[in-house]
Formats: sequence, C-alpha cells, structure tokens
Amino acid sequence: MNFTAQGYAKLNHKLNPDIAVLEGGYSIEGALPYINLGIILAMAGLDYSKVREPDYNKEKLRQPKDITEYVKKVCELTHSQWKNRKDLYIKNIRGKDYIQRQRQVYYDTDGILEDQVQNFKVCNKCPGVNTIDSKSDTGYHIFAITIPRDACPNCIDEGYRFYKHALKKYSHVYLQDRTSDEYFAK
Ligand SMILES: [Zn+2]
Repeated sequence: MNFTAQGYAKLNHKLNPDIAVLEGGYSIEGALPYINLGIILAMAGLDYSKVREPDYNKEKLRQPKDITEYVKKVCELTHSQWKNRKDLYIKNIRGKDYIQRQRQVYYDTDGILEDQVQNFKVCNKCPGVNTIDSKSDTGYHIFAITIPRDACPNCIDEGYRFYKHALKKYSHVYLQDRTSDEYFAK
C-alpha cells in the first residue's frame, strides 16, 4: 500500500491510541524500523517530522491517477453491492448448497503463486463449513477445512467427513474446528 513512516506516524497522531500491536514483518530493514519509530514518537507526543525511510522518494510513492480511479470504482461497486445485499442473496445464494470462489494469491515475500478454490456451505442455521483446495506453483496440493465458531451440528459433521475423505486424496490436510478450538493436520 506504500504507506510511509510519516503516514503511520500521522495516523497515530490523529487516532491517539493507548496501545499499538505489531503484527507481521514486511520490509524488515527498509521500512519497519522507521514505521515503528514514527508510531512510538507519535504516541509519546514527540516530534516525528524527521523520520524517513532510507529510500524514501515522494514521487515514486505517488499513486498513479488510473489507480485512484480504479479504487474509486471498486469502492462504488462494493457500496452498491452492500446496499443490494438482500437481492444479491436471493439471486446468487438462496437455494444453493455451496458457493464457490476461485482466486490466485501471490506471496511476494516467498515468491509463491497459489491457486485457491474455496467452497462455502450455504446453511440457514450457521455461517457454514468452508473448505479450501489449494495448489501452489511449488508443487504442493493441500486441502483445508474450517468449521466456524458457531457452526451447527450438521456443518460440524460435514467438516469431519470432508477431513476423512481428503486424507485419501491429498498429501496435506488441515481441519480447524473453531467450535472446540481444535486443530488437526496430516
Ligand atoms: Zn450449518
């Protein structure tokens, strides 16, 4: 997102939080130390105006106009879909057993391209068990199942059935049962 140390510092200055939690660790040498310093100075009410990443270049970071336009369009589309969510549910989801989503995810820290097929069970009693069939360009093919926290008994059973079935087909299988906070893997 090209958020700078100055951006993080200003955001914290405006939000004035009581605590900050560090999660993940992208760009450990190029950005993270400066961002953390900016946040800490802002939280302490000290001057953060001189904090800059070593390769900071305002022009390089400026968002091209076409991307700004694209973001605007995505926001408008998302907002209109949210407003029409009841109609969309009736049109696209109601009466179906499963909803499928396919996507590709590129992990830039490890250079891995993942092909994902995710299936969500349509259940009128709970959010529904969901599964991910995932292939990466490094050769792995895994199957993962998530039973949501407030899953109904049917979806819990179905999750465990998927797990048993997948054991025969995949080299790596994962089941996360959030109703009992248990995790299984093979
Ligand atoms: Zn259910």
